[in-house]
Amino acid sequence: MNLFTVMQRFPTHRDCLNYLEDVRWGDDPECPYCQSNDVERKQEKGRQGRWNCYTCTSSFNVLSGTIMEQTRIPLQKWFVALSLMINAKKSLSSCQLGRDIELNQKSAWYMQQRIRTAMASEGENELLQGLVEADETFVGGKPRKANKRVDDNKELGRKVSKKVAVLGAVERGGRVKTTVPRDVSGWSIYRFLKSAVNPDVTTLITDEYRAYNSVSGTVPHYVIKHEERYVDDWVHTNTIEGFWSGVKRAWYGTHHHYTREYMPLYLAEASWKYNERQNPHSFSDFMQGLFG
Ligand SMILES: [Zn+2]
Repeated sequence: MNLFTVMQRFPTHRDCLNYLEDVRWGDDPECPYCQSNDVERKQEKGRQGRWNCYTCTSSFNVLSGTIMEQTRIPLQKWFVALSLMINAKKSLSSCQLGRDIELNQKSAWYMQQRIRTAMASEGENELLQGLVEADETFVGGKPRKANKRVDDNKELGRKVSKKVAVLGAVERGGRVKTTVPRDVSGWSIYRFLKSAVNPDVTTLITDEYRAYNSVSGTVPHYVIKHEERYVDDWVHTNTIEGFWSGVKRAWYGTHHHYTREYMPLYLAEASWKYNERQNPHSFSDFMQGLFG
């Protein structure tokens, strides 16, 4: 849903509330504390969307227990922020978002982090399958021309200390999964791929980096030797490399001043967007994931 549609569909706080109540409860409003349906809408002046539970006597609203709870940020701003984040090709800085929705940078950043956290948990348990490309790269620090790979930790610390290693696997024409590993050793790669792909129905493609041999015994594994060529019929890693270049564009263009500790959430946002790239209902599906 683009900005225009969001503004049109949800012109008031009440409209946002109605929408979320419908997504979360349909026709059966339920107390989030005791799951009772013996609840009634409160009639209060000035506060919309409060409910009373007759079973446990709590008072609640549709946001209770979600990322939007207790923030005092008007719901419309959440809606617009989500729409802007989804549609921002190169991601969106908190300064820019703050200006767009008239919120201070800190609050805008806080909203984004909550949204990214929710994005991170989507599709967590679905394993990749089919033709899967895996690759690692380094993000952060200053952009440099030749991104030399080092698989020795000491070397890593000395030469590219400001860069963060990231690992990913992507289905051809499908979804991506990513992580920020401790290092890019064979063990880290093995652990990541074990959690990301279904080995029974997967053919793995990587470049010649030897740490990928750690999974060779568990899944059919094809290697493209980049020293010789980049594509050998269907054996290539162009899909994951395309994904990485998007991540890097967003990072260097938008988030370059952030640090390592936030990388997992930025990566989660990039991965979520990639996985939703062909879904025209990603906005409502996201809300459904949060509230449904
Ligand atoms: Zn209750």
